Amino acid sequence: MAKINVLDKKVYNRIAAGEVVERPYSVIKELVENALDAGATEIDVTIEDGGKRLMRVSDNGCGIERDDMKNAFVAHATSKIKNVEDLDSILTLGFRGEALASIGSVSKASILSKTKDDEMGNLVTCNGGALGDVEIYPTDTGTTVLVEDLFYNTPARAKFLKPSKSEETDITNILTRLILAHSDIAFKYVADGKTVIQSYGGGLDEAIIEIYGYNTITECIHIDTVKNGMRISGYIGNNYFNKPNRTYQTVILNGRYVINNTIQTALHNAYKNYLMKRQYPFYVLNVEMSPETVDVNVHPNKTDVRFIDNQIVYGTLYSVVSNVLDGSAAALEIIKPNNYIPVDVGSKPIVPQKPITKEEIGEAHCSRPYVSGFNEELLSKTIWGENNAKKSEALSENLTKPLGFMDSVHDEEPKKEQSIDDIFAENKKYIAEMEAKKSAEAAEKIKQEELNVEAEFKVIGQVLATYLILERGEDVYFIDQHAAHERLLYDKFMAEYKNGAIDEQTMLLPYNFRVNESESEFIIGKFPELRKMGFDIAEYDVNEFSVYSVPVALFDIDLKSFFDDLLSDMSFKKETVPEIIHEKIAMKACKAAIKSGKILSDDEIQALLTAMKYDTTLRCPHGRPVTVKISRTEIDKWFKRIV
Ligand code: ADP
Ligand code: MG
Repeated sequence: MAKINVLDKKVYNRIAAGEVVERPYSVIKELVENALDAGATEIDVTIEDGGKRLMRVSDNGCGIERDDMKNAFVAHATSKIKNVEDLDSILTLGFRGEALASIGSVSKASILSKTKDDEMGNLVTCNGGALGDVEIYPTDTGTTVLVEDLFYNTPARAKFLKPSKSEETDITNILTRLILAHSDIAFKYVADGKTVIQSYGGGLDEAIIEIYGYNTITECIHIDTVKNGMRISGYIGNNYFNKPNRTYQTVILNGRYVINNTIQTALHNAYKNYLMKRQYPFYVLNVEMSPETVDVNVHPNKTDVRFIDNQIVYGTLYSVVSNVLDGSAAALEIIKPNNYIPVDVGSKPIVPQKPITKEEIGEAHCSRPYVSGFNEELLSKTIWGENNAKKSEALSENLTKPLGFMDSVHDEEPKKEQSIDDIFAENKKYIAEMEAKKSAEAAEKIKQEELNVEAEFKVIGQVLATYLILERGEDVYFIDQHAAHERLLYDKFMAEYKNGAIDEQTMLLPYNFRVNESESEFIIGKFPELRKMGFDIAEYDVNEFSVYSVPVALFDIDLKSFFDDLLSDMSFKKETVPEIIHEKIAMKACKAAIKSGKILSDDEIQALLTAMKYDTTLRCPHGRPVTVKISRTEIDKWFKRIV
């Protein structure tokens, strides 16, 4: 075996870079978190080519002193901790001092920064780990970090980058979360020269509207409550509002965006009765709890956290959210009026909500602020507090308009806390009871309904190897077996498609195709629509495209004919991507359905009727009827029993 070497620092940094700098989005996350740690109130993010070509994050934070400029790029150099005791009281988002060193070792990076006490700024570059000299450079107070040509010196890693559009999507997703988690900070995000998101730091409701649009917030319930020493607040989608994937779920724990299984599961279970397969709830949830009860130092990128007691966290979140969704009396204390422009203007004036005090959240929580710089301020901000002062005029004017929604509940005092043990036992019991009750009720209801319809019909059999005949009361039904099955499959595929549009299935080899110039322009114009429908498509050369993945439900469609169809309608521009997808799914259903002329066994007939739920009003995807009903009167007329 070879001799053991202590790795050269540069080599070590390149390897270690993999931990924090996996992909462009992780660079953006680190840079934005640095800006937040520096107390910035305005942060600009610019990317080109999915971040591969260029990423730039500018802030108006405290800046870096001239003497520290080089240190910023040195591994394990941080201004955020000095000794081991500090590790127990981390207030900042970063503290390992790894990010900039790692980034500088795998890209061409530079930092331009100025503190408020300095006249001029300073500039330092780090290309592939090689530090340059610090130069004087004019700039405003704050810091700009520029990262170009990521992984230019580690081609193996560059090869694993996704197409630019996919990298951009990941950047957008992480930025969205950071903006929601720091909704009092103004952000501007520009990708390839186009502004993707602009927010003004006006609070969570504004950030949600800026990111997801007004239509989303109107589908949400605003909650704010203190329970078991946790404050749970934010916006959660109503029972009928669901999304096709988890990117619409944001949990902010003590001011930090986190991904945590306990919280996700609690929320998912609370919504379970209202969701079908592949439907996911929408929520932007702030959870605040004493820093002693949570460990944020779990993973280098600090997105996961560990709780001292998972079950309390689970139980509290589950009961708060399911109370709200199930409309139980307890919800009255949890639901708060929405702050955004109301659609339905009622007659009652807004009763300003009593701010939730530090005492209610718990002394321990407030003895130490959780994010550097703005914590005390953040904690004292309440739904009706300072945030609103910053809102745009239109919004604040609207804030004074009456809401007429759950008005009476806000000045109620939150209930006195019970001991943690009581609550824990109570929650567990409550959850178990609720779950058992719900599933029993649902099962019973379905069984009853099925028994009822089934009992009404008498199955006579199959004729002409094509039609099923049924009798009910004074009517005889003829069912076209192919049309019925086609309809069922169509519904199934459509549901799979709708629920899983963004569940993309990556293809073994990308599907490549070439078109002429005007067709190319047309296809590029369809990119947003195609991507929305779950196609990962990119232009890989002039007039040449690659499809990397398709929606799962369309995995086996003929992509050539799909794009031919899309292009054949180019001149009319009337057929939309959804229409073509609709047509493809109908075709897939038609091909897969049982044919007319096939003799069915009794079991097969029964299975088909059960799947149809004996619904005699179905139509096939092309609009032809599935069932024809002939009444006794009509038959009697054939035989002249009646005239
Ligand atoms: P960490 O954030 O873990 O301390 P980084 O490598 O991300 O490590 O940053 C190193 C140091 O550079 C930080 O501790 C901080 O002092 C300084 N720094 C980085 N970005 C900024 C910024 N945007 N504004 C002010 N100081 C910064
Ligand atoms: Mg950092």
